[in-house]
Amino acid sequence: MRITVLAGGIGGARFLRGLKAAVGPADEIIVIGNTGDDIHLFGLKVCPDLDTVMYTLGGGIHEEQGWGRADETWSVKEELAAYGVGPSWFGLGDRDFATHIVRTQMLGAGYPLSAVTEALCDRWQPGVRLLPMTDDRVETHVVIEDPEQDGKRRAVHFQEYWVKLHASVPAQAILPVGAETAKPAPGVVEAIAEADVILLPPSNPVVSIGTILAVPGVREALVAAQAPVVGLSPIVGGAPVRGMADKVLEAVGVETTAAAVALHYGSELLDGWLVHTGDESAVAEVEAAGIACRAVPLLMTDLDASAAMARQALELAEQVRA
Ligand code: GDP
Ligand code: CA
Repeated sequence: MRITVLAGGIGGARFLRGLKAAVGPADEIIVIGNTGDDIHLFGLKVCPDLDTVMYTLGGGIHEEQGWGRADETWSVKEELAAYGVGPSWFGLGDRDFATHIVRTQMLGAGYPLSAVTEALCDRWQPGVRLLPMTDDRVETHVVIEDPEQDGKRRAVHFQEYWVKLHASVPAQAILPVGAETAKPAPGVVEAIAEADVILLPPSNPVVSIGTILAVPGVREALVAAQAPVVGLSPIVGGAPVRGMADKVLEAVGVETTAAAVALHYGSELLDGWLVHTGDESAVAEVEAAGIACRAVPLLMTDLDASAAMARQALELAEQVRA
């Protein structure tokens, strides 16, 4: 079976770990990763979501944190701070820095991000084929009324909004800058067209999956795909399980409920949707919109729980196919 998954960072990575445990050795998983969170820091290209997937599946992730490397040290960051060079709000540890140095060096030598990602994965052996959504530069920006500048409207990089400001001010708009002219990376459209099953993990529907869908050709490929498309709700009991997805959902005018997220993706795109047990009331609403819906446990508390979620998603895919 060929399974194609669109993924953000933590939610995507933890789901993928469960999916890997749920499938057989002959099954092939291709991951289309969000690169809208990418940021240039200290002259280096940082790809937080690709790295979270790569480290999580490759066994290098800081488990509790969900991002960055295990057994991390912070000497470079401390030395930069001693020079007064920031930003200090973005956590780059020493081990992590090496990844960004290798990536930046390869990009500088002319390799596209997709080739660089493949090279980095040679070390980590994530057990999936990890493709960036695009080789072109796309950066999600968030329009805010800046409290530090008398409420002046300005667009900040997504990482500044999320990591520095902790989404503490309302997002007025989400702009995937560069997406309009970006092309899907090599293999992305094929991975969607040739898949047997397509899964949307409980990743952020706006700034992770939404950004991938903003690359021209990706949404169209999903709508046209032969394979069933099944998603899992990142919203449980009317709130994100982790993070601040409610802030960016509000910016795009979508209620923070499991049903509203499914309707936001729409029945053109989505064939099946899983909501958490406890959100059973969403099932009828989603099904009325023409999307098959089931309520099953959706908390990725450990590998077994994530694997069970993956099995449920694959089962629903088989049901909608039939
Ligand atoms: P990010 O790039 O690190 O923000 O990660 P993603 O976009 O892949 O995923 C973030 C989303 O995952 C958040 O909206 C969370 O609500 C969701 N999430 C995290 N853990 C869980 C979980 O255990 N169950 C479900 N259903 N959603 C989760
Ligand atoms: Ca992310």
